Amino acid sequence: HAKSLGKNNCQFYSNELNRMVHEHLLLEASLGRAIGNREMVLGYQPKVDLRSGRMIGAEALVRWNHPEHGLMGPDSFIPLAEQTGLIVPLGEWVIDEACRALKALTMLGVEDFVISVNLSLRQLRQRQFVDRLGDSLRRHAVPPSCLELEVTESLLMERPDEAKAVMARLKALGVQLSIDDFGTGYSSLSQLQAFPVDHIKIDRSFLGGKVDNGHGVITRAIIALGHSLQLKVIAEGVETREQLLFLRNNDCDQMQGYYFSPALSEQGLADMLHRGVTLQA
Ligand code: C2E
Ligand code: MG
Ligand code: MG
Ligand code: MG
Repeated sequence: HAKSLGKNNCQFYSNELNRMVHEHLLLEASLGRAIGNREMVLGYQPKVDLRSGRMIGAEALVRWNHPEHGLMGPDSFIPLAEQTGLIVPLGEWVIDEACRALKALTMLGVEDFVISVNLSLRQLRQRQFVDRLGDSLRRHAVPPSCLELEVTESLLMERPDEAKAVMARLKALGVQLSIDDFGTGYSSLSQLQAFPVDHIKIDRSFLGGKVDNGHGVITRAIIALGHSLQLKVIAEGVETREQLLFLRNNDCDQMQGYYFSPALSEQGLADMLHRGVTLQA
């Protein structure tokens, strides 16, 4: 009896595996066509200056408007894009689209606005990455300082020397750089000092549900560390007034999170900028 059960189990796993492989291949094929089919869209989550309360920029977050699955978040296709190498054309599209949006906002009279995009390791390691990025900036006539690139701390630590070299070239181009999800990637502090970055983003896990449960201590320490290295510190995933007040009291520079706004469409972002919405605490 046990034997036949075992056999059924094997069959179950192999059917399940087949199904997963099949779905994976289907998704991979449709991902390859997604850009050409104009299925990718960027959402823009506003970033706010904690002292003035003004919107100073936005983070571009990619979404896939899949013909069958509907709107998909990045966590459900970025890993696949990274495995297959499709992250390279996708990442180029994201940067070019962000530059186009920046130009469009400028035409509407928006000034000194920064859009940040997220990068994957595979993009950073692409030989033509820096040149292509420069092409996008020129094509849309966007000042390089209006574009910011976010790389996660864990990505930097995977290849610190390679990352440093590419980041130096990006800095020379004039774009801004930030370390994303800071505090989760085990960077040594000596390494941190060697990266030519402008911002660090405190990972939202440190904000916790409540700020007085020990998480606050780490947030405060990251803010102090960032400031001692002359970096601006931004908190992500801010959802409550309590978190906001904590960040203000502890001299954090910028915030983004549902408390102020989720990611918006380009039109939604333009409307908000036009209305001059500020952060109210
Ligand atoms: P991330 O760069 O750390 O982006 C922040 C994520 O937190 C976003 O999720 C955002 O929607 C979400 N978020 C913002 N405010 C709040 C809040 O108040 N509470 C909570 N619970 N969540 C909040 P999203 O859009 O699902 O993106 C997930 C990750 O996917 C991003 O994390 C980023 O690492 C990656 N990603 C997004 N777009 C791209 C892209 O164009 N290229 C690459 N390589 N990765 C991307
Ligand atoms: Mg990010
Ligand atoms: Mg993050
Ligand atoms: Mg993240």
